[in-house]
Amino acid sequence: MKIADDWIWGEGVQTVLHLLTDSGHQGLLVGGCVRNALIGAPVADIDIATDALPERVVELAKAAGLKVVPTGIDHGTVTIVVNGEPHEVTTFRRDVSTDGRRATVAFATGIEEDAGRRDFTMNALYADAAGRIVDPLNGLPDLQARRVRFVGDADARIREDYLRILRFFRFHAWYGDAEEGMDADAIAACAANSAGIDTLSRERVGHEMRRLLAAPDPAPAIAAMQATGVLSRILPGADARALAPLIHLESPYAPDWLRRLAALGGQDHAGALRLSRDEVRRFDILREGIGSTAGPAELAYRHSADLARDITFLRGATLETPLPQGWEDAIALGARASFPLHAADLMPGLSGADLGARLKELEARWIASGFKLSREQLLA
Ligand code: ATP
Ligand code: MG
Repeated sequence: MKIADDWIWGEGVQTVLHLLTDSGHQGLLVGGCVRNALIGAPVADIDIATDALPERVVELAKAAGLKVVPTGIDHGTVTIVVNGEPHEVTTFRRDVSTDGRRATVAFATGIEEDAGRRDFTMNALYADAAGRIVDPLNGLPDLQARRVRFVGDADARIREDYLRILRFFRFHAWYGDAEEGMDADAIAACAANSAGIDTLSRERVGHEMRRLLAAPDPAPAIAAMQATGVLSRILPGADARALAPLIHLESPYAPDWLRRLAALGGQDHAGALRLSRDEVRRFDILREGIGSTAGPAELAYRHSADLARDITFLRGATLETPLPQGWEDAIALGARASFPLHAADLMPGLSGADLGARLKELEARWIASGFKLSREQLLA
């Protein structure tokens, strides 16, 4: 098995792999870049595994005049930058002890051990500079069948690192076969160990949830998280029910994890997932919008066309109602509208709180007119 020729790695990858292999070491791509190249999905970051010790990798890179950053040298990772692109090079490792969150690592002698510490068989695939696949755990058939399967015993692997529960659902959402359903052992192990999620940092949980919710269709994975008790551990009160209808309604538009999060409901998203201030602001507008009585045009006028569209989808999904007739035109109209009055128009007759109240009232009347009333009509 070989990676298709049009997917053969760029110049930077070739440089780093040959840097290692030309000096007698092993150098293999591993993880997401190999998995994604094999299925023709975009490759985000480049991970390289080697038997060379980190100090040796640094030495080789420096001798070749390459920029090298000791990003995680304690656990065996250095980053070699070629043409501005980072390449993470990690010495073969095995996990030796763990508290369920952070593994202590030791360097491994070979690729079998390195593969054995990885989470899923489809993530334990390696490839050389020519695109030839090295598959120590027989992960290729799983990838081809879109089966997300733990390396070794699912229960034991989860107890080593509870983040793997979330990674399981994330990888299923992105690379699993939705028709085939999920690996039964994995589901049972996720359910049995869901309490372990409480030990994870909220940054890590938030990072995983963002990536899971950004998948083309995360609804089956989120439903399974709810069924296994994992979802309520992360977001108390959340309910997956509105998600599948939302995915259906929003399908002509790009996935948006925060819009999907808003469909789940529940409490304290900001704390549970460490949302940024901007994210909280947008999230609150979406949640409040679902329950408000403002139509699409008013939402577009008050917020933006995008927010109005998101709220329209969310309402349809959560209230199980069809989208209102002509919603797209209404949003376009509202987004263009600009209120023709200013505070100065009502002064000096009104001031302070009275002025504010009167302006609001006139604005409401103007919105109700479909943004038609003119300045003169409003002042009359
Ligand atoms: P992507 O970057 O597209 O999300 P990836 O597979 O590259 O997917 P990373 O989180 O970048 O995922 O990790 C790189 C590789 O490291 C994985 O493919 C996997 O082999 C291993 N890995 C990462 N996190 C864990 C973990 N928590 N437990 C076991 N192995 C892991
Ligand atoms: Mg990666």
